[in-house]
Amino acid sequence: MILKTEGISKVFGKLQALLDVDLEVEQGEIFGIAGPNGAGKSTLFNVMAGTFPPTAGSIIFDGRDITALKSHQICRLGLARTFQVPQTFPSLTVYDNIRVGVTFGGGRKRGIRDRIARALDFLDLNSVRDLEASNLDLYTTKLVMMAACLATECRLLMLDEPLAGLSVTEISDFLRVVRHVNRDGGTTVLMIEHILDSLIDISNRILILDNGEVIYNGDPEGIRTDPRVIDVYLGD
Ligand code: ADP
Ligand code: MG
Repeated sequence: MILKTEGISKVFGKLQALLDVDLEVEQGEIFGIAGPNGAGKSTLFNVMAGTFPPTAGSIIFDGRDITALKSHQICRLGLARTFQVPQTFPSLTVYDNIRVGVTFGGGRKRGIRDRIARALDFLDLNSVRDLEASNLDLYTTKLVMMAACLATECRLLMLDEPLAGLSVTEISDFLRVVRHVNRDGGTTVLMIEHILDSLIDISNRILILDNGEVIYNGDPEGIRTDPRVIDVYLGD
C-alpha cells in the first residue's frame, strides 16, 4: 500500500466538503476517483497533497504520516499532482515551464536537468521542448503538466480530471500515456475523472464520492450495476 487515508473530513465554513473518507491505494495500481461536480474530489486531492490540512483524519504515504506536512515536503517524499485547470506561463518555453513547475511544487533542484530530460523523453515531448507554452494545444499542455510531475521522480502521480476538454482521439491517446507511465515507468496513478467509461477502462479500482462521502469503493465494472452509483449519475 502506497497511500492510505483514514476518516478524512474537510469543512469549509458551513460546508461539509468531505466526510469520513477512507481509501487505500496499492503500489503499482491505477486507482480511479469519480463523482458528480462538487462531490469533493479535488478537495480530497488538495488534502492529500498538503495544499491544506483536513479538518479530521489522517493520511499515510509510504508508511509515513503526512497529515501535517506542507505540500513541498509531501512532494519531496514522492507524491506529485496536476491541477484541474492546467496552468502554464504562456511566454515561457515548455522546458522552463517544467523547471518552474518542479521548483514551485517543491521538487529537488539537484539533478533537475537530467530529470527534466528523462521526463521529456519518456512523454515524447522533445519536439516541443523549446516552444513557448502559448503555442501548445490543450492535449500537449496536459502532457507538459504531467512531465513536470514526472520530473520530480514521483512514485505516486495524482491527475485531476486530465481528460476534460479533450477530443475522443486525444482521450484514448492520453489514456495510453497514463498506462505507459504506470506500467513502464512504474508509477502508481491516482486519477479523478468523471467520464466513467474511460475511468472503468483504465482503473484497477474505483472510488466514487457523492456529497463528500464514499458511496462506492471497489471493482470498476461493478459501478455499472451499483444502485447508489446509478442513482447519482442517472437519477435527478
Ligand atoms: P469536485 O472536485 O468533486 O467537483 P470540489 O472538491 O472542488 O469538488 O468541491 C467540493 C465542495 O467544496 C464544493 O461545494 C466547493 O465549492 C467547495 N470548496 C472546494 N474548495 C473550497 C475552498 N478552498 N474553500 C471553500 N469551499 C471550497
Ligand atoms: Mg474537481
